[in-house]
Amino acid sequence: MGQLHVFFFPMMAHGHMIPTLDIAKLFAARGVKSTIITTPLNVHYFQKSVERTNQLGFEMGIKTIKFPAAAAGLPEGCESVDQITSDDMIPNFFKATTMLQDPLERILDEVRPDCIVADMFFPWATEAAAKFGIPRLVFHGTSFFALCASENLRLYKPHREVSSDDEPFLVPDLPHQIKLTKMQLPQHERSESETDFARLVVRMKESELLSYGVIVNSFYELETEYADYYRDVLKRRAWHIGPVSLCNREIEDKAQRGKEASIDEHECLKWLDSKKLNSVIYICFGSVAKFDASQLYEIAMGIESSGQQFIWVVRRGENENASEEWLPAGFEERMKDKGLIIRGWAPQVLILDHEAVGGFVTHCGWNSTLEGISAGVSMATWPVFAEQFYNEKLVTEILRIGISVGALKWKTRTTSGGVTREQIGKAVRRVMVGKEAEEMRNRAKEFKEMAKKAVEEGGSSRTNLNDIIHELSSYRT
Ligand code: UDP
Repeated sequence: MGQLHVFFFPMMAHGHMIPTLDIAKLFAARGVKSTIITTPLNVHYFQKSVERTNQLGFEMGIKTIKFPAAAAGLPEGCESVDQITSDDMIPNFFKATTMLQDPLERILDEVRPDCIVADMFFPWATEAAAKFGIPRLVFHGTSFFALCASENLRLYKPHREVSSDDEPFLVPDLPHQIKLTKMQLPQHERSESETDFARLVVRMKESELLSYGVIVNSFYELETEYADYYRDVLKRRAWHIGPVSLCNREIEDKAQRGKEASIDEHECLKWLDSKKLNSVIYICFGSVAKFDASQLYEIAMGIESSGQQFIWVVRRGENENASEEWLPAGFEERMKDKGLIIRGWAPQVLILDHEAVGGFVTHCGWNSTLEGISAGVSMATWPVFAEQFYNEKLVTEILRIGISVGALKWKTRTTSGGVTREQIGKAVRRVMVGKEAEEMRNRAKEFKEMAKKAVEEGGSSRTNLNDIIHELSSYRT
């Protein structure tokens, strides 16, 4: 029998490409030939890691599919979600992804891999794979908790029973009593109308059941009840293999995830080395969310009033970076010994893993959340869009390793966050100093240890990884 060959096809967004690359590396390290499928302008995000994996003696490659930007009404060169400059372009981007089915089928026909792990946003990949008798696994990129909560909201629609947008309702039938408001739900769940995106979400959910199963970037000990609920009650076949970011052990691997960092990693480590244990808060909102100038100004004022040391990652549009009207006058001068602003892309895992970092202001994207958990830091949660309000509940009410900054409303990607300097300053202090902060951090450190064990030989995630590889090998025969 030849080597097992698996395709990995992530959505062209960093929050999907980064964990998918880690998953592909994990499979490769278990002797599987792993091939990343992506579009030409995204190749460089994978290239170095693929080369390093090959140097270690494992087999990994990349195959490209042309991205039909122009045919979908997108500017040429727009091949990843973070390059979308206005929210109006989002439907075009999704339209372009649906056009990837035919070229994917051509590659499947030519190469005939044994399995394809395709992103949740590509529900049609199940049908494409079936044409060649190949099993398709779905990768969502989020927590078991969010998968369960969103499915129950879709099935039972409790938000239709409330009389106002801010009246809390219970998410039905979950192991915990979790309340949300309509304002915190993604647009497609809240809206009564049948949009293209709402139809896509239904297909995504259906493809969980129609596919061979689901790969989840989480670990059993973190969300045991939801891992069980997803399998036993919602009847999904799922393999949890995370936290996948833990496969990055060397400085180089941790520093080079996603884009090229806007700060030299050694400079960054040197700065952190000069700080005391748990004395720095890291503030970052992922790869997509962007705040407008007035919200950034509030963040700056909030951080300053908290008196805490910080690393703050600020992402702005390309043309906006030149103008610094979002910074209070003299802020950087006053903060020069206290804080570091990274304009652009930060080596996030490297920073979170440093012992000087004790807290994290996060938008609750699942990768960031899990990276924070793996680093054992307490969190101030500030969800913006997607399923981030669900992840906030997991962090603050179930795991109890964080507190909410107080964002109340689901927003589109570019946003005035609606959070005041007082809320920010208070949340930063609560996460960094005092008994409550210490208790949250202690709990977070326990999860950090559990995460490490889960991915070691004999751990729950490693065992699930071995199981799925074994099953795919048997499926082939
Ligand atoms: N990330 C990073 N540097 C940055 C911003 C983000 O390395 O400056 C990484 C982060 O470590 C995570 C991913 O990008 O792996 C973001 O994924 P997440 O699910 O947290 O949020 P999204 O970008 O999808 O909103």
